[in-house]
Amino acid sequence: MIAEVYIDIPANPVNKPFDYRIPDYLDEVIQPGMRVTVPFGRTRRLGFVTGLKEQSEFKQLRAIDSIEDHAPVLTQELLDVGLWLAEATLCATVTAFQAMLPAAMKAEYKKMLQVEESEQLKAEDPELAKIFETGRQLSWTEITKNNPELLKRINRMLKKGLLSIHQLVQNQANAKKVITVSAAVSSERLKEEVSQLSDRAKRQKEVLNLFIGKSEDASYKPTMNALVQNGLSREAITRLADKSLLRLEQIEQFRDPYANYVQQTQPLDLTDEQHKALAPIMQSMNTGEHRVFLCHGVTGSGKTEIYLQAIQRVLELEKQAIVLVPEISLTPQMVLRFKGRFGDRVAVMHSGLSRGEKYDEWRKIREGKVQVAVGARSAVFAPFKKIGLIIIDEEHESSYKQEDTPRYHARDVAIHRAKIHHCPVVLGSATPSLESFARARKKVYTLLTLKERVNRRPLPSVQVVDLREEMREGNHSVFSRLLLEKLKDRLQKKEQTVLFLNRRGYSTFVMCRSCGTVVKCPHCDISLTYHRAHHLLKCHYCGYEQKAPDTCPTCGSDAMRFFGTGTQKVEAELNRLLPEARVIRMDVDTTRQKGSHEKLLRQFGDEKADILLGTQMIAKGLDFPKVTLVGVLAADSLLHLPDFRASEKTFQLITQVSGRAGRHRLPGEVVIQSYTPDHYAVSDAARHDYEGFYQQEMELRHRGGYPPFFYLALISLTHSEPAKAADAAERIVSILKKNLSEASLVYGPVVPAISKIKDRYRYQCMVKYKREPALIPVLQKIMQHFQESGKDSLQVSIDLNPVVLM
Ligand code: ADP
Ligand code: ZN
Ligand code: ZN
Repeated sequence: MIAEVYIDIPANPVNKPFDYRIPDYLDEVIQPGMRVTVPFGRTRRLGFVTGLKEQSEFKQLRAIDSIEDHAPVLTQELLDVGLWLAEATLCATVTAFQAMLPAAMKAEYKKMLQVEESEQLKAEDPELAKIFETGRQLSWTEITKNNPELLKRINRMLKKGLLSIHQLVQNQANAKKVITVSAAVSSERLKEEVSQLSDRAKRQKEVLNLFIGKSEDASYKPTMNALVQNGLSREAITRLADKSLLRLEQIEQFRDPYANYVQQTQPLDLTDEQHKALAPIMQSMNTGEHRVFLCHGVTGSGKTEIYLQAIQRVLELEKQAIVLVPEISLTPQMVLRFKGRFGDRVAVMHSGLSRGEKYDEWRKIREGKVQVAVGARSAVFAPFKKIGLIIIDEEHESSYKQEDTPRYHARDVAIHRAKIHHCPVVLGSATPSLESFARARKKVYTLLTLKERVNRRPLPSVQVVDLREEMREGNHSVFSRLLLEKLKDRLQKKEQTVLFLNRRGYSTFVMCRSCGTVVKCPHCDISLTYHRAHHLLKCHYCGYEQKAPDTCPTCGSDAMRFFGTGTQKVEAELNRLLPEARVIRMDVDTTRQKGSHEKLLRQFGDEKADILLGTQMIAKGLDFPKVTLVGVLAADSLLHLPDFRASEKTFQLITQVSGRAGRHRLPGEVVIQSYTPDHYAVSDAARHDYEGFYQQEMELRHRGGYPPFFYLALISLTHSEPAKAADAAERIVSILKKNLSEASLVYGPVVPAISKIKDRYRYQCMVKYKREPALIPVLQKIMQHFQESGKDSLQVSIDLNPVVLM
């Protein structure tokens, strides 16, 4: 038999299956979806078996060395998804396969040195020969670690062919193993043994006494460690096992990071709105019909309860469910809602887990030990066999798009898999992406609407403060008078406040502090980006540039500022203005350590602080009853990013942050500070008017030719020499123009806002298109033709439907 194997080298010439002979002893063992080690060129590599066949067109086939897995790690469905993903995102097939597996399963290669000609080596370099006397293969790093001088000599011997290099494949995925102890004979027999043992075997008697009366209970299997911790002797236990009175077994144990603190919850009685939303999802599951639902529900409308009850139905149907939430909202609060309802039928995958823990969670899914997977983006690849439902909460979140290869969007993968499994996808959000809402409008998706919060609690009242006004009246603080007054009021009432400051957009755009003018590109209606090096403002869509003005082009004031304030500065200001307030600051600096995120939130939940000050990491998923005030310090900081989604992101963020207030008994208030309070993204969010925002934004997208009216493809090039990158970019643009239909628009090349990364110069071209069957083939050819390997070479990357354009 012959196996088709994809080698784990993500380079173009290797991006196809290679035929390998299956040695006799692996016949009927190897299955598609397993990983194997194979000889490749002069090294050993890891590969994925994608198919088996009887014949090959090649004669001299090399044989598979060994298998890495004893059961397939990718199901046939996931192998197919991988092939689809590779084509849809223009990446190497093996890259797609790897993206579906936990990081611990990525092979690491250890460079080994091996002696080829020992006699000759002894003659040439006796000292080196001595090092190799102990064994034929030695690790490269270990030999050269403390002795760099050896490197040169080793290289010389390598050139002469006296030494050679081998790559040893290392699989890091190891299940944690524990030893359990159980009785191997009847209780009667154990009693007998106790009476026969001499008095000196006191420790053995102790162990036997423990098992007397438990022999008949198959579930009584304490671990060796537990027994030893309770004072029993390890030696005595092994002695008894040697005498076949006890049985020792090695079993795989799962690390459970959530063990011990889950409280069981019961389904709630649904509100009418919840009921109406859930019914069609149920129907789609019951009939096994693939549909995509967009659940548009205001914050606090009880979307999560809908998810929970839908999942319950999935379990009744003996199928499995995948729940995607943004990494940032994988807070213990969110996780516990799923664990609380479904207990240990849930696997949780997020970046806070260790590699081993992640691997364990994945293994529970593969082995069918759990039925629900909750996780961030990559959980969409959960290796379930009978998927009954896929949920994507906060579907508008940009973190569902992966920024490295494979550049996939979890929503696309979810829909692709759900089609295969004939099951529904539920996209949930208080602020759906324009793309999704437009699809729902066109009836491609089914819209489910929840207009009210559970128990008719009102949405918080929102006030917008004009910061220009504050300036004019002499208030230069980051806090408006209104916000400060309300902060004091909450301190007095012992209620809590969440203050939100956006970190992104720091100092990248220029704004006039007295009239709010932001300098925009005359061709694109997008803020210009400040390039410090040449004091220039540039448009990174069309390449337009101008000198950064020293005075405002609208009002002539010289108060032009680079926008942005740090959380530290705000904290200092809070301490000055409200010395009695206890403040918790949450940003990248205070949450670097593992678990600190949870710890700070717990402190705030325990009312150990009055104010929670933070960046976008506090915008979502938090639900604290005592929070009655939310302040957004600078609503504009996202608005002027050079991105056509800037308004959408601003609207989403203000809505999400406002949603943190008044979720419980106490009513909530929101204060939004802005330099452009009349901007529709700010004012519509303040009115909780999604539809209004949608209308206006769609009009602008239509005029600008942006999604959802057009699709985008972004081609990025980097090279250590700017001229070479520019030249290739020019040629790519002309190839695209020649090969694509006239309805498609090709832009560029332009230099992006970040023009150089790690000494490599960047260029970008963009295609806007509606229907373009020629696109993927042309882009594939461009990749094959332009992509070079090696350090000082041209690198091409292609992002279809990009989320980040910088
Ligand atoms: P969303 O996910 O839409 O923001 P949640 O699911 O967090 O809303 O619901 C808000 C709050 O209302 C939660 O505390 C939740 O437990 C509660 N809740 C949801 N549905 C019901 C219901 N049918 N009856 C009572 N309380 C509910
Ligand atoms: Zn422009
Ligand atoms: Zn001005």
